[in-house]
Amino acid sequence: EQVLRLRLALFEFSANHSLEMLMQRAMDEISRITNSPIGFYHFVEADQKTLSLQAWTTRTVQEFCQAEGQGMSNNLDGAGVWADCVRQRKAVIQNDYEALTDRKGLPPGHAKLKRLLVVPTMRGDQIVSILGVGNKPSDYDEKDIDLVAYVSDVIWVIIERKRAEIQLQDYQRQLETQNLELRKLSLAIEQSGNTIMITDASGIIRYTNPRFEETSGYRLDEVIGKTPRILKSGYQKAEFYQDLWLTITSGQIWRGELHNQRKDGTLYWESATIAPVQNTIGQVTDFIAIKEDISDRKRMEADLKRLAATDSLTGTLNRRQITKVANQELERAQRYGHPTSIILLDIDELKEINDQYGHAAGDLAIQHTAQTLLENLRTIDSLGRYGGDEFVIILPETDHLEAEQVAERLRATMDDKKVSFGDQDLQLSISLGLTYVTGGSNERALDFDTLTLLADKALYQAKEAGRNCVSVYTEDC
Ligand code: GH3
Ligand code: MG
Repeated sequence: EQVLRLRLALFEFSANHSLEMLMQRAMDEISRITNSPIGFYHFVEADQKTLSLQAWTTRTVQEFCQAEGQGMSNNLDGAGVWADCVRQRKAVIQNDYEALTDRKGLPPGHAKLKRLLVVPTMRGDQIVSILGVGNKPSDYDEKDIDLVAYVSDVIWVIIERKRAEIQLQDYQRQLETQNLELRKLSLAIEQSGNTIMITDASGIIRYTNPRFEETSGYRLDEVIGKTPRILKSGYQKAEFYQDLWLTITSGQIWRGELHNQRKDGTLYWESATIAPVQNTIGQVTDFIAIKEDISDRKRMEADLKRLAATDSLTGTLNRRQITKVANQELERAQRYGHPTSIILLDIDELKEINDQYGHAAGDLAIQHTAQTLLENLRTIDSLGRYGGDEFVIILPETDHLEAEQVAERLRATMDDKKVSFGDQDLQLSISLGLTYVTGGSNERALDFDTLTLLADKALYQAKEAGRNCVSVYTEDC
């Protein structure tokens, strides 16, 4: 009954005291009920060799012992008779300690021992702790062993429970911090200005944030279970997507620009980072895509490119750009043996129009000429404003006979049309000089600058011949 009461008391005590305090209290109790002023309690490590002191009875410390205290570790090999119960794996009684010949292992300042009882506590085949009491005025007997074994077992049960509680608390604390982090993270994802999409390993969409709905026009429930292919515009090649897929399935991050299509069919550009998520054994389980709408930037870039390449009055290519295009065509002509023709043309007597009707009329005449030329050319032809009222036309894969017909047609069309300027009808005509390369293998490679010089000679001839006519460059020009 006494030990049952003690057991209950220890359990109650443990509820709101630390393990150290519990062990101290237990030792004092066992000391009291076994009438032993000395008492010690050690943990035995899994190696079954390392003993670490956890508690002494209060009286041991106060009255008997000045040796090093709690937490001190002993190796079984160096430990004295007090550790014999570990070696023998059973309770050991020593009622005449003084008579022992081999008493090694008591540290200096240790309590003087007369009698000793040490009991191991077992869990499975492992000794987990030992509890010793000493210096009872009379001999220790089996009853003491039972008492000590019982209390020692109770201590261990409480210790294990306490440890499990501490672990659980740690785990809960950890979970709470993780939860908090997760909540913060999910809030950041939900409210992100970027589109965030998560697919599984086979590319099936599992999650998108609200921003996705804004950029793509698709509601969440319309895309969950589908693949990102619904966004494909068809403007990027199959190899582009193959490369993307190959990169992410091999565990690498893909970065690039996607030309996608909204639900309403309009196109948009996205800058995307797609990262594979791998599990602990390296398998790709999900893909996370973070995307930003860059349509505005793309539009601005295209505008800037166009502005840099075109002439502001007519919208046709500027001199620098038409020179570039012409040289590319001439290179191609030489490589593949195509003929290519070049027309240089100039508005007739534009000065007159300027002088008579003002500069705006001259501008209109230039714009009208550009428009008429564009309307009468093929899409593979290129038109550029070469100077004030001069234009260049590149006719790829066109020999001089065809080119002469084109030139004549342009001249006639210009001559036929009148331009309304206020209540005036302006009569415009153009003169054209034509030059060409045949693309033949023994032909000397000519660049655009040289060819325009020749075309200019032909144009001069056309002006000399009375304007509003076509002249083809020959050696006689
Ligand atoms: P020609 O028949 O010999 O070509 O006579 P032209 O009067 O057209 O003279 P030319 O081609 O030698 O000179 C071009 C003139 O076109 C010079 C300038 O007054 C005018 N011009 C050049 N650029 C512009 C422009 O941007 N706007 C206007 N309104 N006039 C221009
Ligand atoms: Mg002119």
